[in-house]
Parts: sequence; C-alpha cells; structure tokens
Amino acid sequence: MTLGVCYYPDHWPRERWAQDAKQMKELGIERVRIGEFAWSLIEPEPGRYDFEWLDAAFDTLHDAGLGVILGTPTSTAPKWLVDQNPGMLPVGADGRVRGFGSRKHYCHRNATYRQESDRIVSALAERYASHPALVAWQTDNEYGCHDTTRCWCDTCRSEFRTWLKDRYQTVDALNEAWWTVFWSQTYRSFDEVELPEQGVTETNPSHRLDFYRFASDGVVGYNRVQVDAIRKHSDLPITHNSMGLFPDYDHVDLVDDLDVIAWDNYPLGNLEESPFPDDIKQKYLRVGHPDLVSMSHDLYRGLKNLPHWIMEQQPGQVNWASNNPLPAEGAVRLWSFQAFGQGAEMVSYFRWRAAVGAQELMHAGLLKHDGTPDQAFKEAGIVNSERAAFDGDTVRERLSSAAAVQEDAPVAILVDYDDMWSSQIQPHAQGFGYWTAMFGLYEPLQEMGVRVDLVPKKRLTMDGDRGRSLDGYKLVLAPAMQITTEPLAKVLTDYVAGGGRLLLGARAGSKTASNLAHMQQPGHLSDTIGAQVVRVDGLRPGVTRTVTAGSQTWTYATWGDLIDASGGAQVLATYDDPACQGSAAYVARSHGQGEFRLLGALLDLPSMRSLLKDWLNDLGVRTWDLPDGVRRHGPYLANYLGETQSALGHTLPPFGVVKLDLGE
Ligand SMILES: [Zn+2]
Repeated sequence: MTLGVCYYPDHWPRERWAQDAKQMKELGIERVRIGEFAWSLIEPEPGRYDFEWLDAAFDTLHDAGLGVILGTPTSTAPKWLVDQNPGMLPVGADGRVRGFGSRKHYCHRNATYRQESDRIVSALAERYASHPALVAWQTDNEYGCHDTTRCWCDTCRSEFRTWLKDRYQTVDALNEAWWTVFWSQTYRSFDEVELPEQGVTETNPSHRLDFYRFASDGVVGYNRVQVDAIRKHSDLPITHNSMGLFPDYDHVDLVDDLDVIAWDNYPLGNLEESPFPDDIKQKYLRVGHPDLVSMSHDLYRGLKNLPHWIMEQQPGQVNWASNNPLPAEGAVRLWSFQAFGQGAEMVSYFRWRAAVGAQELMHAGLLKHDGTPDQAFKEAGIVNSERAAFDGDTVRERLSSAAAVQEDAPVAILVDYDDMWSSQIQPHAQGFGYWTAMFGLYEPLQEMGVRVDLVPKKRLTMDGDRGRSLDGYKLVLAPAMQITTEPLAKVLTDYVAGGGRLLLGARAGSKTASNLAHMQQPGHLSDTIGAQVVRVDGLRPGVTRTVTAGSQTWTYATWGDLIDASGGAQVLATYDDPACQGSAAYVARSHGQGEFRLLGALLDLPSMRSLLKDWLNDLGVRTWDLPDGVRRHGPYLANYLGETQSALGHTLPPFGVVKLDLGE
C-alpha cells in the first residue's frame, strides 16, 4: 500500500515548496506526481527550455525523501505551438475546430503534434531519467477526456481511408463488410469514404464501429510515441491515468504499451454523471455507489491482471459534475481501503492544495486554498497510520498463482470495447447500455461478497503474454457480448466442455465483427446451445415485465431476447407478457463437463441475485448475506451507509471500514 499525491509546485511560491514536501512526508505520502500540465513553463518559447524550476521541484521533493512520478505535459500544448501548427487542433463531428483555452486541444493523429510530443517528452526523459527522485512516468493525462478520442479533421479523414485499406485490402471487401448495398452507399474506392456521424440522419453502424476502432488506434499510437521517447532514456515504469468506465478507446490495447495502468477515482462526480436513478444518487450522495467504483477497480486490475494505481483519488468535492456534494466524513478513508482491497497498490490523492484560480478553483485538495489542512488531509493521515495493520494480504501475492486466482475470484465477467461500441451505436432501447448490462450482473455479486475478475474478451483469443485463460473460474458471465467470432466461440466452448459454466446475457452473439447481424443468434454458439434468439423486445424506460422460472417470478426491464429452445436446450424460464407468446427467456444446455446458459432478459437486482445465488451455491461458491450498503473488498468490510451496521461479526460505524476476519 503506497500513498501519493498530485502536486503543482508551479502554482505556488518556491518558498512554500519545502514546507509542502515536509508536510507530505509527515503525512505518509511517498510518491508525488508533478508536471503534467506545465508545458508552457517548461518551454516558454519554441525550443527554449526552462528546466530550472522543475529541477528545483525535483530536488525539493527528493530532499524530503519523496519519489516523483513525472507526467508528460502534452494534454495542454502551449499557445505558441497551437499558433505555429493550427492543424493540430481537433475537429468535432459538427465540423467546428475545437480551439485553445482549456485542455486536450490536439488531434492524436496530427503528425506535427506527434513530432512535438516526441520532442518535449524526449527532452524531459533525457533530463530526468537519472534523477534519483524519479520513480515512474505518466504519459499525457486522461486520454480522450472531453470527447477528444474521435476527431473529424482532414488528417483523420485521410488516415481513416488508409486504415480501411489496410483492414479490407479491396473496396469490394469493405462494401461487403459494411453492407453498403443498403441506401445506395456502395463505394468505388477507399478515397470516397467519409468520416461517419456527419450524415443527415444515423450513418452506417458498421462504418461507425470501424471509425471508433480507428479513433481508438489513434490514441494507442499517440501513447506509443511517448512510450518510445521515454524508453530511449529510462527503464522506470510507465503508466497512464485513465478514467473509470470511460468507453471511447480500447483500454486493452493501450495497456500493452504500459507497465502499470492507473485510473482516476471520483466516486461522487462519476455517480452524479451516471445513468443511475435519483433514489440511488440520493442513497449514495456522499460516498458514491460502491459497486460503480469497485467495478472500475476490477476493470483496471483485469486489464493487465496486475495491481493497478489510483493516480487521482477524489479528496473532497470536485468541480466538474453537474452537482458537487461534499463527501461524508470518512469517505476518503473508505475509498482508500476500497482501492487497496480491490487490487490497487497505490492511492494518490488529487490534489495537494486547492487551486485559487482558473477552471478547477472549486475542486478540493488535501489542503484548502489557504494552505491549511482540509478533511481529506486528516483522513489520509488515518489511512497512513492504519495501513500497516490493514496490509498483509497483498494483491500481488494473490495474483502470483493461478490457484490463488481461482480461490480469490470464482467468477469472471467478460469485458470488451467492441461490444461496448456496438451497443452504443445501436442501443435499440433508450435504457440499454453496455455498462448497465454488465452492472446488472456485477452488483448482485458484490451484494453477496463474491469477488469478480473482469477479463478482457479479446485476450481470450490472443497468444502468449497478452492472452488470458478462463481456466479456474467456476462461472463466467458474458453481458451484452454482441460481437462473436468463430475463434471466440471455440474458446468459450472449450471452457464449458472442460467443466466451466457460461452465462450469455441479452444480445449475446447478435453481431459479426463488422457489426452485421449474425444469421443465427447467438452466432456460432447457437447449435451447441441448442437455442436461437428469434425476436427481440426493446422496452421504453419505466416499463417492467416478468418471467416465470419454476416457482419464482422474476422482473426485467429494457430488453428481452425471445428464445426458441427447440434445438435441444432446456427451458428454465418463460416470458409472461402475451406479446412474447410464451417464448423462453432463459435456457440451459450441458456440454462436455460443463453447461451453457442463455438469459435473454435484463433482470432487476433481486431477480438476478436470486438466480446467481442459487447457481453459485450449487457450484460450491460461498456467498454472504451482507446488509444493504455493506460490501466486502478482499480483506476489508465496508459500510456505505450513514448508520452503524453489523455484518459477519463486525460492527461497522457509518461509512466505516474494518479488516475482515474471515475465520476460515
Ligand atoms: Zn484529427
């Protein structure tokens, strides 16, 4: 367990730095991230570097015994650079150039900006690689933030055509992959293809999916420029701070070039901006939704199957959400141990001291504007004093053997950005969302204290270090797994044949890799499962319906896949709505030593909990009856409600967290 903080020495008088550093050290801080927005100070004029202040900041932090994580400053290019190279500015789908004055004002594919990024990152790497304070690098800041992954500039149009040519070789193959026969979209050459989402109405969903992939590749390629520049001078770990469930680029691709993945954890801002209903937003007003945060931790831990970092941990109210409530007393401590329990090895608070000016002046820090301690300062100190007693069962130890993984997380949920984009592009029901579908399976497991791994779907069909296996998981869940291919179907079938249990959720196997409909749903798995989705029902928000499962009645909303089980599957539940004409909603079929199940309806929380609890207990997986708002995070037990609760022999104060005595 390591504590860190994000610090902007450039914002404060130099006379203050030594005091700040001493205070950080006394608080238990070990790593300090600096530099990631300071380009105009590092290079005030083209080609004239001013490292003097940054040298002094490094030395000051080093003298206090602190390690430095140096952020590259590329998410805020200086005005002179924009004026020299206006072509670097990103362009929105509306054709409008997005200008200087905030941040992220660059296109990831602009060649000049890539060269300039290489230059500034190389200069920093050359100067600081051997500084004794340096412990790690962070590339850029929050890739894709403010809708900057996708860009409609001339460079992007031209490079998209090249990207398509590489992918499809011939324009005929593209026409077939996109089914351009529809609405007279047939292209005669790649040079005729425009960027999507600028049409009169909805543009071709296959075209859009490829554009999303292309844009994601742009982010990954841009990051690689920086990684390559750093690597010429430094072997220290390189990370990037991503944003929770941010969907716009494929994080699985990004992390292959990084040593550690980090994410920025803002539980209150993220809940406020989420699609959760008002009653949930009010219930978790001051601590955020525990499962929304845990799911992000599990996502990032799963991207590399290694401990991750929290580069920015919310310390108080933020400035960027629609509403910005204060966190509860104890929330910062709670979030810190939640992070460690879910697999993080560092929690770094954002920021050291509240800014007195500019866009983030309403964002809290560990210190207030006047430099005196705020609530989070006190709680970071408590985390520091407790962490020795709370440590022990470290994630790295748990991840060191496959057997430990199986013991630790009996359930895997598959995650995939192509599936996410396919859902986004054609939701077919207003309430249908990829993360919402995943959350419908994730939340009941958290309520029962069952640990979950999020496993990137695309790694299942990769070889070597990049590949992942499902071996050892008792149960694998595949929510909204729209896109299936033959190689994927084989991996999943082998897993089941070997004794695994696989639940396919709504819309599974409905699309090909180029976002066309499979002739049969769920794709290549239909015959093996002995069932087919024959019709779909996209319901408006607020509408609920039921299915009958033996003696139980389950409720669902938003989506129903109507299943024909005449191919040999066993029917476990049927729809009650007369419009569904008695279709199956949930079917099962044994295969080899294991079992497939296909669940077409998006069940509500109590129904899904009931389904999973019975199944897990049958499989010998232990579940807990935790009180409302109480969660298990590995070795810790946490209370997300503002009242004292009892669970598993522990008394939990409001918003409290204790080390769990599993006693087994
Ligand atoms: Zn562009």
